[in-house]
Amino acid sequence: MTHRISKKEKILIATHNYGKAEEFRKLFQPYNIKTFLSSDFGIEEPEETGLSFQENSKLKAKSGLSSGLTVISDDSGLCVSALNGEPGIFSARLAKKCGGWLEAMHNIYTRILDTHTNDFSAKYFCCLTIAWQDGFMRSYLGEIKGIIKWPPVGENGFGYDPFFYPKGSSVSFGQMQKTKKMTVDHRSIAFKKIINNYYKD
Ligand code: IMP
Repeated sequence: MTHRISKKEKILIATHNYGKAEEFRKLFQPYNIKTFLSSDFGIEEPEETGLSFQENSKLKAKSGLSSGLTVISDDSGLCVSALNGEPGIFSARLAKKCGGWLEAMHNIYTRILDTHTNDFSAKYFCCLTIAWQDGFMRSYLGEIKGIIKWPPVGENGFGYDPFFYPKGSSVSFGQMQKTKKMTVDHRSIAFKKIINNYYKD
């Protein structure tokens, strides 16, 4: 079996996160590839028992294979330098625990202040995994560095975007046009690697 993605192919995006799903739909648009979501096949979100982005990304990819399609999965998160890389793989779970995104951003910001540091640097990290029906599976990484600033601003993006300013940007990801964010963020960096390796029109 050759491992290629071609025009008009159907790909399952193994995610239950609406923000990510939207970004993927747009990322795939120029390639004329039809994307489906786990929910289209009644596939439930697997438990994230992995200890790294890559392990969790692979768990998600495997969960999508019951669709019969080639699968792309994403595990991603925000890694804050002053917090030794936290929340990292627990980014989504922190928001659940805190009761929302604003609360989670506030939790992170106050924990940084508690360390009495001037270091507000952070990065978004993403591991995308592509998995074929024959068991062939490969993972690709992307990251974007930036700074956390309070208060959160902007209605665009999702998750932690309103308080994350990518390096060199005067606006947060929450203020940035979605189409612009998608050309520079961690997900698009990993996505381009998949396209470069496997897309053939
Ligand atoms: P998971 O990969 O589904 O476990 O969740 C990743 C979590 O990381 C998301 O729910 C967000 O909290 C955060 N995250 C990952 N990528 C982004 C992004 O591009 N913008 C904002 N938050 C993100």
